[in-house]
Amino acid sequence: MSEPFSCEKKYVGNFGQPVWENPTEVMVQAAFDHHDLAFRYITTEVPAENLAAAFAGVKAMGYRGFNCTLPHKVAIIEHLDDLGESAALMGAVNCVVERDGRYVGENTDGKGFLESLTPIIDAAGKHVLIFGAGGAARAVSVELALAGAAAITIVNRTVERGEELVALLNAKTGAPATFLAWSGDHAIPDDVDIVVNSTSIGLFPDTSRVAVDASTLRAGLVVADIIPNPPRTRFLEEADAAGCRTIDGLGMLVNQGKIGIRFWTGVDPDTTVMRAALETIFA
Ligand code: NDP
Repeated sequence: MSEPFSCEKKYVGNFGQPVWENPTEVMVQAAFDHHDLAFRYITTEVPAENLAAAFAGVKAMGYRGFNCTLPHKVAIIEHLDDLGESAALMGAVNCVVERDGRYVGENTDGKGFLESLTPIIDAAGKHVLIFGAGGAARAVSVELALAGAAAITIVNRTVERGEELVALLNAKTGAPATFLAWSGDHAIPDDVDIVVNSTSIGLFPDTSRVAVDASTLRAGLVVADIIPNPPRTRFLEEADAAGCRTIDGLGMLVNQGKIGIRFWTGVDPDTTVMRAALETIFA
């Protein structure tokens, strides 16, 4: 027998364009259903020019919040009542939360990464080397800086983008940041504790490699990839072979979803259910 219709359902969702292939709905709805939460997550294709109207709809329909992805991560800010600390620092929002009638912008990408990292290593006092300087690298590096990283090195192909991120970190956080241009196989210095691939290299179906000098990957080094699909990237396989401690991007995706659910519902969801839902669709 089907469940009786409930008028009590609360709505959240995801706005972007293109957004249909975004896996967040599958993962978040699996958690809502598992915990019997009367929430429905709705993925909606919203073009840039319709963001204001979509947000007016959110308020009119009493959404508890929503995720937003490209092209709305910066444009949404002017519509919001407030920003969380890291979202304000990085100037990008991927999760909006309704708190007492006010819509507050948060960024859960970096927080999700940090939750994956912390069981393996505490970022405080560590030297982190990050490949990439795009939106994800910005989120990850700002959150690492707020967590007390001692030094951050940004390695990026495009110089201006890398320098811009380093300038932001040095101006707005306490973590000293340095930029290095990326050409050829990059050697990991001995004083680096954590290496992160924050580029889009390796995202299915791309099979190209992160250009790193594999002879400088060493036992004990922590190596993380933010690519969620496939979870075992070529970069992580190289790091595993060198005896590094590795962290996959599926964990970051699950944890940023977990943080969003916690913000919207107050419930800490079971992440094994969320990860299993993602593994099903990525398979
Ligand atoms: P952006 O387009 O903003 O940035 C892409 C970055 O990758 C840039 O630094 C770019 O360098 C670099 N890059 C891309 N191709 C190459 C290449 N062939 N050689 C060297 N550098 C390259 O993307 P995002 O930062 O928003 O996203 C990056 C990835 O992060 C995506 O694949 C996404 O799937 C993943 N992601 C994962 C999340 C998770 O929860 N696991 C959350 C968010 C994102 P350049 O500046 O030179 O162009």
